[in-house]
Amino acid sequence: MQNVAILLAFALLYDYFWLQSRKKNYLLKKIFIGLAIGAITLILMLTPGVLLPGIVFDVRSVVLSVSGLFFGEIPTIVAMICAASYRIYLGGDGMYMGIAVIFTAGLIGVLWRYFRPAWRDKKFIKELTLMGLLVHFVMLTCTMLLPEDKILSTIENIAIPLIVIYIPSTILIGWFMVTQEKNFKNKRANEKLVESERRFSELLTNVHLLSIIVDNDGNIVFCNEFFLKLTGYRYYEIAGKSWIDTFVLKENRAEIRKSIENHDVSNHYEGEILNKNGNTISVFWSNVLLKDETGTVTGIASIGQDITDKKLSEEKLLEAKRRAEESDRLKSVFLSNMSHEIRTPLNTVVGFSELLSEKNLNDKKRKEYFDIVKSSGNKLIEIINDILDISKLETKQFKINKSVCYLNEIMYNTFESFKNSAELKNKPNLTLQMDFPDFLQDFEFESDTNRIQQVLDNLITNAIKYTEKGTIEFGVTSNLINGIQSLEFYVSDTGIGIDEKMYELIFERFRQVEENAYHQYGAGIGLSICKGIVDLLEGKIWVDSKIGEGSKFYFTVPYHTDFEKKKKNIKTENISLNIMNKRVIIAEDDKNSFFYLNALLKGHNLEISHAENGEVLLKMLEQETPDLILLDMNMPVKSGYDCLAEIKKRGIKTKIIAQTAYAGYDDRERCIEFGCSDYIAKPIKRGELYSVINKVMTD
Ligand code: ADP
Repeated sequence: MQNVAILLAFALLYDYFWLQSRKKNYLLKKIFIGLAIGAITLILMLTPGVLLPGIVFDVRSVVLSVSGLFFGEIPTIVAMICAASYRIYLGGDGMYMGIAVIFTAGLIGVLWRYFRPAWRDKKFIKELTLMGLLVHFVMLTCTMLLPEDKILSTIENIAIPLIVIYIPSTILIGWFMVTQEKNFKNKRANEKLVESERRFSELLTNVHLLSIIVDNDGNIVFCNEFFLKLTGYRYYEIAGKSWIDTFVLKENRAEIRKSIENHDVSNHYEGEILNKNGNTISVFWSNVLLKDETGTVTGIASIGQDITDKKLSEEKLLEAKRRAEESDRLKSVFLSNMSHEIRTPLNTVVGFSELLSEKNLNDKKRKEYFDIVKSSGNKLIEIINDILDISKLETKQFKINKSVCYLNEIMYNTFESFKNSAELKNKPNLTLQMDFPDFLQDFEFESDTNRIQQVLDNLITNAIKYTEKGTIEFGVTSNLINGIQSLEFYVSDTGIGIDEKMYELIFERFRQVEENAYHQYGAGIGLSICKGIVDLLEGKIWVDSKIGEGSKFYFTVPYHTDFEKKKKNIKTENISLNIMNKRVIIAEDDKNSFFYLNALLKGHNLEISHAENGEVLLKMLEQETPDLILLDMNMPVKSGYDCLAEIKKRGIKTKIIAQTAYAGYDDRERCIEFGCSDYIAKPIKRGELYSVINKVMTD
């Protein structure tokens, strides 16, 4: 019993000082352990079984062999030295055998450890038995070192204890220590597992990754804080709820349901989930099937990374790339169109200038060539102006100058300039109409007259360009758009029309309905300039059209109702009319033009009469002599020139201002020659008219 207690102490030494020690490889530690084993051996030797006088036996062989096996060479050698020293000190007949047993037992243990390193693995009881047998067989042979007469009796005496005590003790203590070792390792592993599980769940809870676990039915078993934060839910709102019905997009539900049911979940995939507000979040998922110890699938654990921003920037990047490529392509198309656009009138200018230098050219031909050169030159200026406008719009240098605008001036000027334009004259089956409601005739507002005029001109030019016959109508109304009072202009035609899918594109830079249509049409920048201008005026531009039936372009110009207050502060270049209480005859065959002039002269207490043609004018002059005649030179029945001749003949003294659509130097000279006081070119601008009248009436 005593020995068993000591052996147990030995086993505990192994557990506490060896297995649990982190500094196993320190030499000092090994020596200390060796001393402790030596001490245990000494205690064993102090309580021996005395076989014969001077021949004592104890279980030192068990302790030392097991020490060699479990502790290795250094502790065992130290223990062997301690035990051997004590045995020498004891002396007696059995000393040599005792020392031999000490060394052979320890040595066998150490050698077993080195030559059978895998002895613990499976059949360690067998290994321990074999080693115990070997140690104690050697011990038996050590009896040879006893005095001859004691050998046999000793063998007889120790054979039975060897078999029933020593060998089983070796096995028992070895088994005990192996178990201790295994328990220790299990405990360690368990501790590590608990620790890593703790760290893992902490990681899952706090990491900036979405983490969820669903069971086999797709119900949510776990989700982390980040998941809740990102989706906007509280835990109790989704715990136990269906993952598919709560988070998966409708169109993907069937597919995901099937894959959860079949446990066929891909390890990694990109997908979208819905947050509480119904917005989508892009997630890169990594999934694993969860299994219990029997291998049965219990659910799916997923970790996901929020890639919404990444996706968005990817999309933006792709869009930017697409736009850059598109813009590159459009610029090339534009350049080739432009070079064609510029080259055509330029060739005409060069070609006809050469023809003009020919000597034998009659006046008629010369005038014809001259007109061609002039119109091609004008065309070139138009193109260059357009290019300048585009580049100003692109570089945000396009300026809007707000001042008082007179709607009648814009409308009548537009009508006047197009009515007499070459473009319209070249298309005899096309008529131009203006729809200008009465209630807007005197409308004044704050905006940029020139820019509005530019947009209208562009739209009407296009309408004429793309229409062969029928009517081009332009007009204006006043509307409340999005709570802001706006003027809504329109230009409609009965031309080729525009496909609905091009409605937006035609307002983009360098775009045409047909990209290779430039031979026939323009360069595709007019509408983009219009859009740029309307945007700057804070309005909108759009089109309504039907292929083959015609198009109607609209644009709005918002104006502010507090304009009246600001009006006085606005710097305008307007000249005011300085005549009062005069009688004026407007000789003008076009009703719209008469209305316009009438509107301009209103408010000055003038007595205005209208002569629709030359004959009516001459008749009127028989009755009265006005202070001023505004004489249209291009009237039916009797032209302005005929009237002038007649007035001269009759000796009527009145001031006459000629108005004509032709803006040549010759025209002016000719009018003055025929007796006019001055001359004004159509389209008539308010300021110009006032300054000419002021000048003529004070002369
Ligand atoms: P372009 O110089 O080619 O006329 P725009 O920018 O003015 O350039 O017009 C862009 C395209 O829109 C034109 O090429 C034409 O295809 C189409 N378009 C513009 N106005 C009309 C219209 N009134 N009728 C039919 N198509 C039109």
